[in-house]
Formats: sequence, structure tokens, C-alpha cells
Amino acid sequence: MSYKEKVAVYPVHSMDGYKYMTQIEAAIRFYDKEPDVSLEVISLSAQEYDVMRKQYKADMIIDRIVARRDVDKKGKALGITTVDISMPKMNYVFGVTNTVKKASVLSFARLTILPLGIHLGLKTVEERVFKESAHEIGHLLGLTHCFETTCIMSFANSIKEVDDKLPLLCNSCKEKLKSRG
Ligand SMILES: [Zn+2]
Ligand SMILES: [Zn+2]
Repeated sequence: MSYKEKVAVYPVHSMDGYKYMTQIEAAIRFYDKEPDVSLEVISLSAQEYDVMRKQYKADMIIDRIVARRDVDKKGKALGITTVDISMPKMNYVFGVTNTVKKASVLSFARLTILPLGIHLGLKTVEERVFKESAHEIGHLLGLTHCFETTCIMSFANSIKEVDDKLPLLCNSCKEKLKSRG
């Protein structure tokens, strides 16, 4: 059996993080890595919450994930959460990766929003979770943003831009990944 690098997965704040684990695991296996799902949830405190914005601070959540990951002696880590997250100067983010700290956080909060009057099947939400978790894992593995709007690594500013992506990497991103070994 060949050795595969593991990506640690941590549900953050609530058990709801487990809800889309099938998609998260598929996104990790998409890169030929092995998911290592934590059975314990990382809880957040008032410290990570921005009362004015009613959102959690993504960079502080990443620090919580890093602290826990280091205790667990694991490597690259992805936190998943249902709370709405943001970064300074951004209204919200779907996810954030800190490549130096080798940790990401992905929020389902905006990915599960259903536009008014439109029936949206669960499959679409699942596809969004797959694409955006694969996006953050791509960053963890060294990929940067891609200008090809259908590519997983293109930066999505809106839910429409997430839906416009294909669940794939473009050839140029695939090449970059290969050259990084
Ligand atoms: Zn990105
Ligand atoms: Zn690309």
C-alpha cells in the first residue's frame, strides 16, 4: 500500500460540520490525499466573535484549528463550520486558507443559502461544498487563484460564481500541482 499524505478535518463550533463530510472527504481524495476526520468538535468562544458584524473572525478560527492540530501532531488541516465567517475588509468569505500556518477554514453558512423563489436541490449545496472545500485544499497544497472562471481555484465572490465553477481543476492548475510534486 502506498503512503498518502493526510489532511486533518476539524468540525468547528457545532456537530453540523459532519453534515457534509462525504463531500469534504471527496474533495480531499480528489487530490489523492487521505482525510483524517476528528471525532471532536473545536468549540469557539466570544473571543472569535465580532459582535458588531455578527460574524466569526476567520483568521482567529484558523489559529484555533492550528493550536488543536499541533496538539494532535497532525499536518495540513481543514476546519469546517456552519457559522458565518469574515476577514477584515471583506463582507464575508466562503473560506480562508493560511498557507504559512497550513490550515484552512470553510463555512457552509453562505453555501446553503437558497435564493428566494428558486427551488434549489440539495445536490447543488453538496456540489458547492465539494467545490469550495476543494478550493481551500488546493490552497493548502500550494495552488493560487486561477483566472479560469470554471476552475475550482477561481476566486468566488458570490454564490453565482461558486455555481459557475465546474467540480474540476483546469489543465494549468493540474500542471502546477504536478510540478509541486
Ligand atoms: Zn481562494
Ligand atoms: Zn485553474
